[in-house]
Amino acid sequence: EHPLTAYANHVISYDPAVHTFSFEQEVLKSLDRAMKEDELFLVYQPKISADSYRLNGFEALIRWRHPVYGLLSPEIFIPILEQHHRIDDVTDWVIDRVARQISEWGKSGKHSQKVAVNIPGEYITSSRLLAVLKKTLDYYHVDPRQIELELTETSVVQSSESAIRAISLFREQGFSVALDDFGTGISSLSFLRQMPITTLKIDKSFVDGVPQSEKDSAILDAIITLGQSLNLDIVIEGVETAEQVLFLVTTARSLTIQGYYYAKPMTPDELAEWRTTFSAVPDGNYLLS
Ligand code: C2E
Ligand code: MG
Ligand code: MG
Ligand code: MG
Repeated sequence: EHPLTAYANHVISYDPAVHTFSFEQEVLKSLDRAMKEDELFLVYQPKISADSYRLNGFEALIRWRHPVYGLLSPEIFIPILEQHHRIDDVTDWVIDRVARQISEWGKSGKHSQKVAVNIPGEYITSSRLLAVLKKTLDYYHVDPRQIELELTETSVVQSSESAIRAISLFREQGFSVALDDFGTGISSLSFLRQMPITTLKIDKSFVDGVPQSEKDSAILDAIITLGQSLNLDIVIEGVETAEQVLFLVTTARSLTIQGYYYAKPMTPDELAEWRTTFSAVPDGNYLLS
């Protein structure tokens, strides 16, 4: 068993002790080592088609197994790296590892589904990003069609004009582009119409009250309808219960579900094992289990 396996889903979410000056300094100081020695690593969360219950993609999510602090959640260290302008380096590292993983899966005939990568705010409009993507995918012989770029709503709204240009360039290269955590930001409907994105990822907060809360259910339904009427692929994040899955499959067709109900983020080893049990379950029956 891979040494990281046991930890992959038991990350520290909030620990006041780590929000200190010395913690920040330690994070910044040990970042280069962490990238080189694979203290940073990626876990992959499956995305499931709500119509067919089939696997149709992954999201790559970063973890840090720190020798002193233990397993760190990205929610703790990503903001520090953003604040101190080290996030671009980490994003390049993530892109490298994802491309390498896709190429390995390709060679071994394993998963061929798209992998989504989180791209932080300011990096979207940097010319460096496109150059890094091209160079890295070339190196590993990976097709841009195998990659989805997840951008947050806030970052795209903030640099609207240049974001539209950047997204168009990504699309021309063959990348899919998703708007992450949709609904939590400040985007208007006209904004949504202008953005050349392929996918809306609806934030977990819209799913939490479903189906108990009528209002929440109505809002989720409306967002899905809006997205689909704009011809966007819809991913629902944070689906945790069978009732939520039932609500979704009876509300709309062609949705993609990402959530603990089907699978948590996993290391590639765990993923291989999960895949055998998941595909062994007859379609539909999985929902009732
Ligand atoms: P995100 O991009 O919105 O990723 C989805 C988060 O929701 C992940 O948390 C995932 O584990 C969690 N999640 C998925 N399904 C469920 C569910 O059913 N229930 C619950 N409670 N949670 C669920 P994670 O991995 O802790 O990542 C948190 C955030 O950190 C991400 O939110 C993203 O903003 C950021 N992040 C993660 N990896 C990277 C990365 O490689 N680069 C950058 N720039 N940011 C990253
Ligand atoms: Mg994301
Ligand atoms: Mg999200
Ligand atoms: Mg999120």
